[in-house]
Amino acid sequence: MKTLSGIPASGGIAIGRAHVLAALAVEVSHHFIEPEQLDAELSRFDAAVELARTELAEVRQNLEHDAPTELGAFIEVHELMLADPMLTVAPRTLITERRYNAAWALSTQVEALAKTFEDMDDAYLRERSYDVRQVGERILKHMTQDAGSSGGSARPADELGEDIVIVAHDIAPADMLQFKETRFAGFVTDLGGVTSHTAIVARSLQLPAVVAASEATSLIHQDDFIIVDGHDGRIYVNPDAATRERFARKAAEERATRAALGSLRHVPAVTLAGELIELAANIEVPEDVDGAVEMNADGIGLFRTEFLFMGRKQLPDEDEQFSAYARVVLAMAGKPVVIRTLDVGADKTLAEEVDLQAVVAPNPALGLRAIRYCLAKPEMFRTQLRAILRASALGPVKILIPMVAHEHEVDQARAAIERAKKELKARGEKCAASVPVGAMIEIPAAALILDRLLPKLDFCSIGTNDLIQYTLAIDRADAEVAHLYDPAHPAVLHLIEHTIRTCKRAGKPVSVCGEMAGDIKYTERLLAMGLTSFSMHAGCILPVKSVIRGAGASPAPNAHVMQA
Ligand code: PEP
Ligand code: MG
Repeated sequence: MKTLSGIPASGGIAIGRAHVLAALAVEVSHHFIEPEQLDAELSRFDAAVELARTELAEVRQNLEHDAPTELGAFIEVHELMLADPMLTVAPRTLITERRYNAAWALSTQVEALAKTFEDMDDAYLRERSYDVRQVGERILKHMTQDAGSSGGSARPADELGEDIVIVAHDIAPADMLQFKETRFAGFVTDLGGVTSHTAIVARSLQLPAVVAASEATSLIHQDDFIIVDGHDGRIYVNPDAATRERFARKAAEERATRAALGSLRHVPAVTLAGELIELAANIEVPEDVDGAVEMNADGIGLFRTEFLFMGRKQLPDEDEQFSAYARVVLAMAGKPVVIRTLDVGADKTLAEEVDLQAVVAPNPALGLRAIRYCLAKPEMFRTQLRAILRASALGPVKILIPMVAHEHEVDQARAAIERAKKELKARGEKCAASVPVGAMIEIPAAALILDRLLPKLDFCSIGTNDLIQYTLAIDRADAEVAHLYDPAHPAVLHLIEHTIRTCKRAGKPVSVCGEMAGDIKYTERLLAMGLTSFSMHAGCILPVKSVIRGAGASPAPNAHVMQA
């Protein structure tokens, strides 16, 4: 048994077979196919291989006579690989036996083969790992629509007999989204931090996750049996029977505890002192609203709209955005929905096709991110604002501006909102008479000039993830400095408490929507600072409610870190 450790990023125990993803595999879709889709999926795979062969034959035929001989030799190597059963038959076995969709089966096999070449002593053979990947990409390119995306099931892995735990070097937040479609048991990544957006999505999926397990992808092999402890960040590779049994018992206990919390779904979040606390949900994509409704959330406290924009070659137009926002507003049936305007930048990048700047920014976390990005692209910003305002005709909507640091950013955002309203009016479209506008307090400067900002704002939401990052100068996604990312740092607590008290004094609603709001370690501390509104992933609502219902008899220790 090998034990690795990283940073615990999402609680729970995952037990299953490792699926080690490489860069190629991360980008392809992952679905389990239905038995009746098997023949079509095999044919799709065979057709893609055939098309790759034809393409390569054409390339060879069209080769200029004076082309360097090495070029012909390379093409020959690729043709040989395309004839090798390791590439053309083995993926069929994965499709048939494991019910992987074709792209997933191919990328799994390509990676295994490439690794075999990489481990060879001979330098020439080692180099062939590149060829394997290139041939894999050539086949992948010819794959038509995936079975999974055209009605394939989001079949839980455990229905197939074994759970699958994803092990990857890193997973971009946009790529994480595809994992929402198929359930995996857990995630391990070499890189990342607790509040990197990858970890946030893992938590929203309620899957155990360990990040910054630096050597995971080289020390864990495909199909190793692993246990991921999302509480303490340990990963057990090929554990002995006693360890397996111990963790299976622990996982069962956790399932029972979660089930028991279900009884809290319809009781209010009231402290022992009788104070009613609002518990709203954070969502990334419109479908997440179903989880919020299931947990009886008091509203949507943060809709991270950037996930609608990421991983696509064309930005969503006004109608597409309107449909997404409308779905959420209608599902919440009269409960408030806080829609945050686009917060791209830092670890949430748009595809290169739509945003070249993100690729060249010297320090994206301090660059053209969030409101700065939107104000630099007024047409795109107003398209989003019009879509949000149209959704406000269907139910209570609030607009939240991310990464505010300057008063003039609020002024400019408000001016854009007014202009978007006028544009809608000219088109005869409806929107609510009044749509509250708030700011994320997530840059220390915003917390420190709150007195100036508040007259311009209807509400505030404290983004602790970035507030910690920018206060402590710790990149929230950087594994190297993750040990210094400390939510309980006195400077951070000082800014949070200052923000809550200043808003309360001014009579402006304030909530916390960063990950601290959903972490029961901080619930009592935040309550003691006077916080009465929390927003978190739906899966955290009941555990936090349970703490709230037991809290308030006496002040939490160390709650006040500053003089009132
Ligand atoms: C935050 O910064 O705390 C926050 C809620 O926003 P995000 O995690 O999307 O940056
Ligand atoms: Mg933020």
